[in-house]
Amino acid sequence: MSKNKEIPYKIYLEENEMPTSWYNVRADMKNKPAPLLNPGTHQPMTAEELGSVFCEDLVAQELNDTDPYIEIPEEIRNFYKMYRPSPLVRAYCLEEKLQTPAKIYYKFEGNNTSGSHKLNSAIAQAYYAKKQGLKGVTTETGAGQWGTALSMACSYFDLDCKVYMVKVSYEQKPFRREVMRTYGASVVPSPSDTTEVGRKILAAHPGTGGSLGCAISEAVEVAVTNPGYRYVLGSVLNQVLLHQSVIGLETKAALDKYGIKADMIIGCAGGGSNLGGLISPFVGEKLRGEADYEIIAVEPASCPSFTRGVYAYDFCDTGMICPLAKMYTLGSDFIPAPNHAGGLRYHGMSPVLSQLYDDGLMTARSVPQTAVFEAAEQFARVEGILPAPESSHAIRVAIDEALKCKETGEEKTIVFGLTGTGYFDLVAYEKFHNGQMDDYIPTDEELAKFRANLPKMD
Ligand SMILES: *Cc1c(COP(=O)(O)O)cnc(C)c1O
Repeated sequence: MSKNKEIPYKIYLEENEMPTSWYNVRADMKNKPAPLLNPGTHQPMTAEELGSVFCEDLVAQELNDTDPYIEIPEEIRNFYKMYRPSPLVRAYCLEEKLQTPAKIYYKFEGNNTSGSHKLNSAIAQAYYAKKQGLKGVTTETGAGQWGTALSMACSYFDLDCKVYMVKVSYEQKPFRREVMRTYGASVVPSPSDTTEVGRKILAAHPGTGGSLGCAISEAVEVAVTNPGYRYVLGSVLNQVLLHQSVIGLETKAALDKYGIKADMIIGCAGGGSNLGGLISPFVGEKLRGEADYEIIAVEPASCPSFTRGVYAYDFCDTGMICPLAKMYTLGSDFIPAPNHAGGLRYHGMSPVLSQLYDDGLMTARSVPQTAVFEAAEQFARVEGILPAPESSHAIRVAIDEALKCKETGEEKTIVFGLTGTGYFDLVAYEKFHNGQMDDYIPTDEELAKFRANLPKMD
């Protein structure tokens, strides 16, 4: 099938076409996402309460359900210009390989040293911490992408950055750790003896490899007990989706430049930040009745928050110290089977996306791991980019949809988010190549067990 290539392989925007404001989709939502609740009183968290953990301006963004546009400060826009706009690529080679009449585009966010979209929010969060005159920030990292992005952002603004890294990852992923240290972050394997909660966990479970929930608890403790420090988080929160809207705004500007109308928008969903950012302006059009799009969230079958979770208030961390969020969740002590898409192994989901999903504005699909790596390899071989396992979930469904178009002859325009590169995930690729990858999917009984531990809300 040969196609008329009047659309370039890569659609770039000029610097002066880049967004100057983030888009806050909550402003256009009739049903707003449910507020974060104080875990003790079950009352909505006030700005003051949130301010002891998070930076002031970020708290204001977290609670802002009314302003559709929030200006991107010039310092952040200038940083964005170093690695943005990110290209919107027409996947002509993949289309040709699949012999599909579908038109496939992907927005590639792996073009920066941290290798993912997470830098878009990291730089914003570091900027507001600096503006507040803080000394530094603390965070947790599992697979390491968020910690890496935050380290880069903090070094740019000369902020101290303390990263609590899940101990197994710390030991098994020395390369990401060294990137973080290169950017000046201190990286502590969690659980550690540097915090009270860490010491408690170590006493109860000597030799434990740690978990994301435990690392969150340590990072929050350090932030609230050290003057001049706040805690920052790389996904799930409303503010993170707001910052990531830069992805969707650029995508829309690039499509509009060539008069292209997307039919379908696909993205992987861990905590929901890249997908939320990509779809925000399109969902805004849907909400305002201006256009329609089919939106698909893709999650691992081993951690199916949307497709098999419940919409309820739950803890964001296993330590149960963070605010409660109403979201699609599997239960805060859900432990996903080992899965190589580390960035998608979160038990919950962004409250914004959860509300949109509950209102039928988007759909979700779960895919097994081996099928994801098959798609990743197929994509790498024709489009050249070595995709992150997380991103490959979106590739899987984009390919599936393009193959459906081949059956039906429909010329759908498919846009998907390619969130990052997979250079630090080669152990996963190795398992795949050696046929040692497993596709474990939790049973209904297992999921019910974790669901039983949701907080009682009245
Ligand atoms: C962290 C990460 C994700 C998942 O996080 P979201 O908040 O759901 O976007 C996806 N892709 C990559 C490359 C990541 O690093």
